[in-house]
Amino acid sequence: MTDLPGHISVREVGPRDGLQNEDPVPAAAKIGLIERLSHTGVSRIEAVSFVRPEAIPQMADADEVWAGVDRAAPVRYSALAPNLRGARRALDAGFTEVEVVVSASDTHNRKNVNRSTAQSLDDIAVIIDEAHQRGASCQVIVSTAWGCPYEGDVPVERVVAVAGRAVADGADSVSFGDTTGMATPGRVTALVGAFRSAHPEVPLNLHFHNTRGTGLANVLAALEMGVDDFDASVGGLGGCPYAPGATGNIATEELVHMVEDMGVRTGVDLAAMIDAAAYAERIVGRVLPSGVLRAGPRTRTIPA
Ligand code: ZN
Repeated sequence: MTDLPGHISVREVGPRDGLQNEDPVPAAAKIGLIERLSHTGVSRIEAVSFVRPEAIPQMADADEVWAGVDRAAPVRYSALAPNLRGARRALDAGFTEVEVVVSASDTHNRKNVNRSTAQSLDDIAVIIDEAHQRGASCQVIVSTAWGCPYEGDVPVERVVAVAGRAVADGADSVSFGDTTGMATPGRVTALVGAFRSAHPEVPLNLHFHNTRGTGLANVLAALEMGVDDFDASVGGLGGCPYAPGATGNIATEELVHMVEDMGVRTGVDLAAMIDAAAYAERIVGRVLPSGVLRAGPRTRTIPA
């Protein structure tokens, strides 16, 4: 194995990206999930998104959820916002880390927010300024980074150009989102390599969905390139808005289970994360796709 990072940072996105793609659950269940996750050792949790309730009813109670969470001091919590209005709600709610999204694909961006990618980048420049003025950091997530449900493949040069514009406008970090699970390891290597050559100094997060079973293989390809920051969703909570019944993000406990055995530290207590996944499964009322939730850690033994 080539040199892998000794430690990675995991951002738990189950309460947001996961629950956003499940049938709505009560605020108390969301609070319960965020609080359980807060005691797994995970260092970052994307807690809520501030979106129009008509657009995403699952996140309509974001303010109530966030106000209700008994926060754990070591955890960094963040919120996702689709526009300036949402970003202001996040900042007003006290978030000091805000994520904004732009799609690398024009068609996908227009379907999502009725703006071209270029127009969204103009909006994002204003959001970054406002976040900075209020003492917060702003990450720009480039979605459909490995493909678009309407346009198919998105050229690497275009994805890097979109991210580059965000960097020029002051983004504190960049995330590439595989919104529809179209990434494969070779494509991960290509995009990460191109971005790193252009912007070696910019912190990079990767966000994989396991829609087609390549999620952890993509992580491994990225680890081998030195990427040390990944999103994951407890239990593999969530889905894909363009593929009914498809699986969601890579499962946090599967990510932790794999990389820790390779000597890559995460700070996450695997048993606690599996417990949180079992709780996630109870609140959504369906069997979640995580293999580690089903089978337990590889060292689990049964009575002879
Ligand atoms: Zn996602």
